[in-house]
Amino acid sequence: MATHYYYETIENLKIVSLDVKDVRFPTSLGLHGSDAMHRDPDFSCAYVTIRLASGTTGNGFTFTCGRGNEIVVAAIKSLSFLVVGATVVDIYKDFAAFSRSLTNETQLRWLGPEKGVTHLATAAILNALWDLWAKLLKKPVWRLLVDLPPEQLVSTIDFKYIKDVITKEEAIEILRKAQDKKEERIKKITADGYPAYTSQNGWIGYSKETLIELTEKYNDLGFNHFKIKVGLNLDDDIRRLKIVRNIIGWDKKLSIDANQVWDVEEAIPWVKKLAGFKLTWVEEPTSPDDILGHATISKELNPLGIGVASGEMCSNKVLFKEFLLTDAIQYVQVDPARLAGINEILAVYLMAHKKGVKVVPHGGALGLGEMIQHLQIWDYVSLSGTTEDRYVEYIDLQHEHFVNPVSVKNGRYEVPTTPGYSTTLKDDSILKYEYPVGTEWESMFSKGLFHDPRKAPSRRTSAIKL
Ligand SMILES: [Mg+2]
Repeated sequence: MATHYYYETIENLKIVSLDVKDVRFPTSLGLHGSDAMHRDPDFSCAYVTIRLASGTTGNGFTFTCGRGNEIVVAAIKSLSFLVVGATVVDIYKDFAAFSRSLTNETQLRWLGPEKGVTHLATAAILNALWDLWAKLLKKPVWRLLVDLPPEQLVSTIDFKYIKDVITKEEAIEILRKAQDKKEERIKKITADGYPAYTSQNGWIGYSKETLIELTEKYNDLGFNHFKIKVGLNLDDDIRRLKIVRNIIGWDKKLSIDANQVWDVEEAIPWVKKLAGFKLTWVEEPTSPDDILGHATISKELNPLGIGVASGEMCSNKVLFKEFLLTDAIQYVQVDPARLAGINEILAVYLMAHKKGVKVVPHGGALGLGEMIQHLQIWDYVSLSGTTEDRYVEYIDLQHEHFVNPVSVKNGRYEVPTTPGYSTTLKDDSILKYEYPVGTEWESMFSKGLFHDPRKAPSRRTSAIKL
């Protein structure tokens, strides 16, 4: 290993436990996070703590909209037998093989494979292992990724099913090319920060007053790119886009996100009617699985200067491969809590790089910004070498629950300096928001704000009329 584990012996590097908690935040009360399809999300996570014999811990999570979080928790418990008892040195020596042991466990794979609940569970576990690795080396994850020699970084990736687009040897070659500029780029990104864009002003359930107030706020804070949710009503979309353009002017960028609400033949005329607002991209115009549909939409909208973005619900690297091979998207929005950890995310970045397509990861949910800042900084330093038309998404939700929250100044992410993947929740937040036993949940049940799931079932209506 080119790496050195401080203060640890091999015995201490054995994993002695994997704990998972169901943590939910009541965001539906303010319609924070609402879009055309997810009208009343309670931003939640299945939160994993992996503990070594030495006591060192790594944390990782996957995201859900609330209900069903307990199913992901159960899937993580089902996978934990592959983790507990292993020694992390062995895992990191052949991380690709270990990730494959999770994604293709011989019986559990029937529940996926490499998609849905079991893949979300895998994401939480692998994210915790990356956090742990970086903490053992006392580095932020972006720095761990940057410092690993190309051969070792590529050894973490499972190339199964993508070798027709990129091979291990090609990936190493691509990464080697960027090596000599690394130190210069680290200095630059540390001084300048990484450009952010915000979608915090544009949740679909927000009132006109809130839209105005938040657009003004983030405009004044120096953000240069905004994104609003669309797709329920064309007149509303026009009204809201007018409000935003009036505030931000015409030099700043503006994108829209339909969250899969349209059929292909609905998406094209709808977005064409909004083209006058000078849109950078339309995000998730249709089903996240409809690769050819995205290709059709791209063909119609690209001549108008509008890109197509997708990926937050793209299940795995094979689907991303198809999106790239068919020129179906111009912005790859890989999700750090959906794919099988950084291992699979690296595969997507490398394929996109080879095909000349930009990666703008998904950060519009609980704790995702904390993770994707590391990925984009690594991309700038070690892969693409540019931040042009690339961003880290920013929403202003729940950062206060993290031990090392993101820091955004003048519309740019500051480079994280603390060890790990920024994925550790505060103990106090877990005490308050573990579901359904946390003190805040008990209090909200007693006030009648939510139904206590330990009591008899009750039908709950959506916050917005369907
Ligand atoms: Mg989105």
